[in-house]
Amino acid sequence: MTLREACREGTEKLSRAGVPEAGLDAWYLLEWACGVSRSHYLAYPEEELSEEQEQKYRAAVEERERRVPLQHITGEQEFMGLPFLVNEHVLIPRQDTEILVEEALKYLKPGMRFLDLCTGSGCILLSLLRFCPGAEGVGADLSPEALQTAEKNRARLGVPAVLVESDLFEKIEGTFDLIVSNPPYIRREEIAGLMEEVRLHEPLMALDGHEDGLYFYRKIAEMSPRYLKPGGMLCLEIGFDQGESVPALLDAEGFDEIEVVRDLAGLNRVVRARRP
Ligand code: GLN
Repeated sequence: MTLREACREGTEKLSRAGVPEAGLDAWYLLEWACGVSRSHYLAYPEEELSEEQEQKYRAAVEERERRVPLQHITGEQEFMGLPFLVNEHVLIPRQDTEILVEEALKYLKPGMRFLDLCTGSGCILLSLLRFCPGAEGVGADLSPEALQTAEKNRARLGVPAVLVESDLFEKIEGTFDLIVSNPPYIRREEIAGLMEEVRLHEPLMALDGHEDGLYFYRKIAEMSPRYLKPGGMLCLEIGFDQGESVPALLDAEGFDEIEVVRDLAGLNRVVRARRP
């Protein structure tokens, strides 16, 4: 089978399975299974796959037909231009979350101490440390499996970070200049309507924000003043429809300078607030 035939066969199988962007995913799997670049593919489409490559590619396409996320097959997702290992124990880093990192980077300076709650793969924690060397970062997560993944990412990126198994602030000590989090924020009744890749393959505990989606924001709003230094900053990712509810929770807990930051599509994405 040639590279071109493989790509065509993969595209057909994936589109029959109802995978959105079948052609793109078939190409990514081929790139991954054969280690070919796009320019190599365009120059040598008639190159034959080795038997090993063919097997690896066909098995990957089969997994994708079962709506296993592409990133679970390749094992990686890029975030802030950095490669992160992912698996079924962590939320796959979303490009939207880069807005939170960029917002936090406006404030974070070397020498500051910050906390990332619900760190998951560690994508927020570790990219902040990578882009602000000299800051001190602590990542907390309830899931030991998620923390193992974050630790692998930490070692691969070669940044110092402290990882703590903790239900939000439960095992957290000391105070911070900045607290960031992308907590689970999907309303429970909406979970059944999510796409299969997310609903069947991503960890429910990384998605589920309980009845009204606000469970974690309520806890964070209530508890973070005790863990923030005076004047310290809180930076949270929110759902597009939480641009009023989350600021209201922060206002009720006495936060100042509450601001909602929108993403490039104009949707509410991040809330920033300062402890007086
Ligand atoms: N902080 C991680 C991320 O943004 C995990 C978030 C979560 O599990 N809700 O990808």
